[in-house]
Amino acid sequence: MRWLAKDCRPGIDTEPTTRHINTTKCYKSPGEAKVQLTLPPRVSPVRFQAALNAFEKVVGKSWVLASDEDREAYSDIYAPGSADEWPASAAIAPGSVDEIQAIVRLANEHKVPLWPVSRGKNLGYGSAAPRMPGTAVLDLGRLQKILELDPKLAYCVVEPGVSFFDLYEHIQREQAPLWMSVPGNAWGSVLGNALEHGLGYTPYGQHARNLCGLEVVLPDGELMRTGMGAMKDNPSWHLFPMSYGPDWTHMFTQSNLGIVSKAGVWLQPAPETSLQLTWNIPEEGDIGWVVDTITPLKLAGVIEQNVFIPSWLGKIVLLGQRKDFWDKESAMPEWRVQELLKEHKLGYWQVQIRFYGDEGLNKARADVVKAAFKRHLDAPPREDWWRQGDPVNMFDPTMGVPTAVPLQMSDWVGGRGAHMGFSPVVPATGAHVVGQLKRSRAIIAAHDVDFYASFTIAGRFATNINMLMYDRDNTAQVANMRKLFDALIAETALAGYGEYRTHLGWMDKVNDTYNFNGAAQRRLNETVKDAIDPNGIIAPGKQGVWPAAYRGASKGGRA
Ligand code: ADP
Repeated sequence: MRWLAKDCRPGIDTEPTTRHINTTKCYKSPGEAKVQLTLPPRVSPVRFQAALNAFEKVVGKSWVLASDEDREAYSDIYAPGSADEWPASAAIAPGSVDEIQAIVRLANEHKVPLWPVSRGKNLGYGSAAPRMPGTAVLDLGRLQKILELDPKLAYCVVEPGVSFFDLYEHIQREQAPLWMSVPGNAWGSVLGNALEHGLGYTPYGQHARNLCGLEVVLPDGELMRTGMGAMKDNPSWHLFPMSYGPDWTHMFTQSNLGIVSKAGVWLQPAPETSLQLTWNIPEEGDIGWVVDTITPLKLAGVIEQNVFIPSWLGKIVLLGQRKDFWDKESAMPEWRVQELLKEHKLGYWQVQIRFYGDEGLNKARADVVKAAFKRHLDAPPREDWWRQGDPVNMFDPTMGVPTAVPLQMSDWVGGRGAHMGFSPVVPATGAHVVGQLKRSRAIIAAHDVDFYASFTIAGRFATNINMLMYDRDNTAQVANMRKLFDALIAETALAGYGEYRTHLGWMDKVNDTYNFNGAAQRRLNETVKDAIDPNGIIAPGKQGVWPAAYRGASKGGRA
């Protein structure tokens, strides 16, 4: 029985990515052993079996998944090296909120920690695998209901297992005048992505900010609702983003303080028209003026969307494999990059700015933006209009259409390809962005790795994603990538910037960089964790926050 792994099997996916997904094997390479049982710390085999028996009484035998094959299905399919570094002991798939509560209570009793996932597709950050070896995955994928879709006030209420594709299809079926915001790779769940602070590329692109009103199972099994949901049957639960008194909503994002069992998510009213301007920006250093041009227009509301600016490799990875463009092991040299840019008529960066809504407003906004760009670049942008009734580009995240095509980048190096993103946040000014670009570029070049960066201007900040692609079975390449990741974290933190999200293997290291007043934030997080989760049952070690029960003591704990 492999509930979560079903999407990895050929032929089952209804998503437009099957070809690419299947080029990456989901499971172990042929030589590797099956995932053996790793027990949670201090839990004997007999006690573990007793816990599984108790879980089975709640969810039924078929939803406690504890064979070697099951464990393999919940491993990190993009692990930098062996997935055995982050093994799950089992997975439990409850089918209702009551069942989640019952499992959490039993987990406390049996001291078996749980790692909640919504769809477990957190690719590049650990997939479904837990931070602490032996933690059992709590797979919420069976809770798949879209509980509400309100076309007037533009929001929905979803359970954890609702994928971006599910919600998209539901909106189409209902013919609701609503658009979603989707991440670049929209293979996962609406809820999991928002909880992890995922970004999209529409005016609703800050996904955690779209969350309004959560229902949460607390570490002792208690059920609570954030925001106006704290009042029984309050119709403003998913509309007013605060509460009376402190609001706890964001306490549960990137968090191990509770299990979110449903959430209100704001949606964008479908626009009547949309206009996209596209510029090829020739030089690497041009990113400075590009950011200084876009940010004030974004803050003034002329540009509403999150503007995604990928470097050239973002386009080339979709055209083939690395060997088709450069057949040496060493990083692609600058002269070859320049040749490719000419050959494919690409700028170093591509800037696409999309406007949404009334045609006249879009035209007026576009005129302001075009005039601002003209001060730096003579070439006019390409202009693409879309009007209601026109077909929508199925691969365009700026139009809220889920796609997983960018996953093809995992195939860039060949073999059992995978990727990780190094993702610091910097102020959205040219000076900060250029400084960050130069720093990460130099570190990546020093490790002889191809450079693929993007900046997403999402308000007063830009998120810089540096994609690192590797073949999981190439030991030397993986070792180099891990060294590179360490260096990026350390040197970026020295310059004063932090990552917004990271892979399981670096959660402690990134947590260490959040060091104001002797890591006061960590102390507060751990104080709260210990107060509400004395057994350390929920996601020990997530984001480097360890409960007392495992702090420093277990092999997975911080020393
Ligand atoms: P995706 O939506 O991409 O499939 P995941 O389900 O893998 O995302 O979730 C990413 C991470 O977010 C998980 O590893 C977990 O730490 C956290 N998470 C996901 N869903 C929940 C939830 N319902 N409650 C609490 N944390 C969650």
